[in-house]
Amino acid sequence: MYHLECIECHKKYPETEVIYTCTCGGLLDVIYDYSRIHITKKDLTGPLSVWKYRALLPISREPISLQEGGTPLYRIDRIAKNLGLKDVYVKHEGMNPTGSFKDRGMTVGVTKALELGMKTVACASTGNTSASLAVYGARAGVPAVVLLPSGKVALGKLAQALMHGAKVLSIRGNFDDALKLVRDLCDREGFYLLNSVNPYRLEGQKTIAFEIADKLGWNAPDRIILPVGNAGNITAIYKGFKELKNLGLIERVPKMTGIQAQGASPVVAAIKNNNPAITPEKHPETVATAIRIGNPVNSIKALKAIRESGGTAETVTDEEIIRAQHELAYMEGIGVEPASASSIAGLRKLVEIGVIGNDEIIACVTTGHLLKDSEHVLSVCPKPIEIDATIEAVRKAVFSK
Ligand SMILES: *Cc1c(COP(=O)(O)O)cnc(C)c1O
Ligand SMILES: [Zn+2]
Repeated sequence: MYHLECIECHKKYPETEVIYTCTCGGLLDVIYDYSRIHITKKDLTGPLSVWKYRALLPISREPISLQEGGTPLYRIDRIAKNLGLKDVYVKHEGMNPTGSFKDRGMTVGVTKALELGMKTVACASTGNTSASLAVYGARAGVPAVVLLPSGKVALGKLAQALMHGAKVLSIRGNFDDALKLVRDLCDREGFYLLNSVNPYRLEGQKTIAFEIADKLGWNAPDRIILPVGNAGNITAIYKGFKELKNLGLIERVPKMTGIQAQGASPVVAAIKNNNPAITPEKHPETVATAIRIGNPVNSIKALKAIRESGGTAETVTDEEIIRAQHELAYMEGIGVEPASASSIAGLRKLVEIGVIGNDEIIACVTTGHLLKDSEHVLSVCPKPIEIDATIEAVRKAVFSK
């Protein structure tokens, strides 16, 4: 029903082969025999979840699942009004089992690991991938090894990886260094690599597109805005919408719009300069640690997604990210981590510079939960007001400015 195919030389590999990139170095895609997949809107009634779309997922065995997906699609009318927009939604991926969209990829990826008979799973991570892999590894009863950039991982994510029993290695280097090392480790030791270079992870993540279209009554928004780190998610969501269009479930594919932090923006630079490939950044830096990546592995796929869909890419500063995080939190009641807020910061910037029109229907993906990075919150919010335990002191403090 499906196979792996190189996006550069189109060499095909059977689904039983453990391989992450083509022998030519190109990225792989999971390609289905779409002529044999018949799904109608009628087949897709019922609550949202990753495994609702099983007919479009490359798995035959019982999935390793914690009920991932089914995340809320909120309207953000106050922020929209403030920007002069009408229809803006937030797909809050922080509501997944471990608090980020990575669970969609891991439920499929870890299930695939079992299908392939792999005995250990591994990844490099800025934090959320490691949290998710630790949890799904525990659920599957398979040991997990995670490599993290030392000192640059939000505490909530680290706590998850540790508590759920992964072997946690803190690398004296950045994410890009950790990824290079874990790829080498997987090749040498036969561990199963679950970074987003693994095309099966992206298959799980494409269900973000399915859920958005499903929830909107099988209509696609005009535009999707999301943060871009390793550029797997933008690629996955684009593939999801394209599949829905191929199957006749939606009429058009949204403009894929990627947002990067100013200090880590190789994809934006390539789009703006019209380059065929990115130039890696040696020293990526941003408060949004989940997208602190200088050499995104999926950049070739992401550039294609942005260009083919008529989308764009834009940078935002750390200040703009923190402001957007605050606005989502106090104006809309939606708590997200800094990387996630970059989608809203990007929305604001693209409206201000006239790229986004006021009649567009827009869905912003907020990728991870506020509680992932509470250290950052404490550093940017006012301190609690400490007072004596008397009603006078309480009243005085309540009414103080
Ligand atoms: C992983 C992650 C991203 C980046 O996604 P990519 O697929 O690497 O582009 C953004 N935000 C959060 C919270 C993440 O965990
Ligand atoms: Zn190839």
